[in-house]
Amino acid sequence: MKTLYVRIVMTTIFVMIFSGLVSFLISNIYYHYKLKPYNDQKLTRMANEVKSFYEKNPSLTIQDYLENVGDLGYQVLLVDENEKQTFYGGSFKKSQLDRTTIESVLYGKVYHGIAKYPTNWFVTGFFDNSVINTIGVPINHGKNHYALFLRPNVELQFGELRILFSIILGLTILLSIVMVFISTRYIVKPIVKLTEATKIIAEGKYKIRLQIKRKDEIGKLANHFTKMTKKLDQIEQMRQEFVSNVSHEFQSPLTSIQGFSQSLQADDLTDEQRKTFSSIIEKESKRMSLLSKQLLVLASLDKEEEILQKTEYDVAEQIKQIIVTNEWSWRTKNLAIEMELAPTNIFADKNLLHQAWTNLIMNSIKFNKEGGLISVRLSNEHDMVTIEIKDTGIGISENDLPYIFNRFYIADKARMRKESSTGLGLAITKQIIELHNGEIHVESKLNEGSLFLIKIPQM
Ligand code: ADP
Repeated sequence: MKTLYVRIVMTTIFVMIFSGLVSFLISNIYYHYKLKPYNDQKLTRMANEVKSFYEKNPSLTIQDYLENVGDLGYQVLLVDENEKQTFYGGSFKKSQLDRTTIESVLYGKVYHGIAKYPTNWFVTGFFDNSVINTIGVPINHGKNHYALFLRPNVELQFGELRILFSIILGLTILLSIVMVFISTRYIVKPIVKLTEATKIIAEGKYKIRLQIKRKDEIGKLANHFTKMTKKLDQIEQMRQEFVSNVSHEFQSPLTSIQGFSQSLQADDLTDEQRKTFSSIIEKESKRMSLLSKQLLVLASLDKEEEILQKTEYDVAEQIKQIIVTNEWSWRTKNLAIEMELAPTNIFADKNLLHQAWTNLIMNSIKFNKEGGLISVRLSNEHDMVTIEIKDTGIGISENDLPYIFNRFYIADKARMRKESSTGLGLAITKQIIELHNGEIHVESKLNEGSLFLIKIPQM
């Protein structure tokens, strides 16, 4: 398996080699098409200078003169009429020159070997130390005719520079490779850390501290990762809390049922006691049954929006129906009901909303005072349906208010037994409303009453 580290190092080195090759090719093309003709002209001028100086100074011996030219940084080939060849300023690597070229120069023509030098993609002609890569000029000295071929002695002219450039290039390449190795480690390190962190999470440990302080994409990833682990940790804690709450909620009615059923077995019980005990048992088992039903609803609601089975129906009619069906409950408490429910069609999950309204209306009955009032209002504005359920009951204290939508939260624990509370109703209601992209708010004053306000999109 190739690690990310190896991949990045290899890719960068490949990119370096590739771009080096391409740059060489491009500069070589530039040499062949632009510099070569220019170079040829320049050298032709030089050769003509050499030639005319010699021709104007007949006292000079050609050997001494050309040796001097050679010392100044040129490679020279002199061919006399007898085709005798003499080299000055170092020998050529390839010294073969065809006769016709020599003859044409001897007869007075200029040879442009540099301009004519064949184009080769991977060889820069400038450095080719070959006799065909020269400028040839005729020299006439009295009766003597010569052909003079000349090119710069690259080694002599650029010797130290070449070494210097080679050192610079070599060091650049070497240092780049070393830097690539080091910098890639720096890039890859946080990814390695993240990978290790995911392994720890997979083992179920969420308390992770990532020491990544970068502000780039990897830094952002690490940041989101940390947020995710915190959320996971929170969810895990909530899950554990939920499980312990559930078992606790089941445990207390079970203990009570056990206790009272044992008491029922005693022989010396009055009819009155027997009735009380069995009614407690009945009440506790009802509470357990309600609890398990509500837990099932919560579990199904956790599966999110896909569970909604939306239809279009009259929500005002639905609320009216709930009030009518529960008439017995509010009548026994002598409650008055006020309703302002204009027919309003809504596109929503009928069964789930039925449950939400029932929870709220039953609470307003359950927590109301004897002879109190319940007002239910429905209004519809800009495709938002607003439902208000108001009671004149015991109210909720400021301390309890922020928590009443939490699972298992019961504000008045003393009432729990009497009113068969589970603390799940509002949690379910809130989840149902939010699944419909709606919102629920509460306003309440202790001993004065509560107002539950729901806003839900009509369609
Ligand atoms: P439950 O009704 O089973 O206790 P809920 O989740 O419906 O559970 O309500 C949570 C708590 O919020 C209740 O126990 C009660 O203390 C408080 N509460 C809810 N509705 C009202 C209300 N209309 N008036 C006063 N208190 C309320």
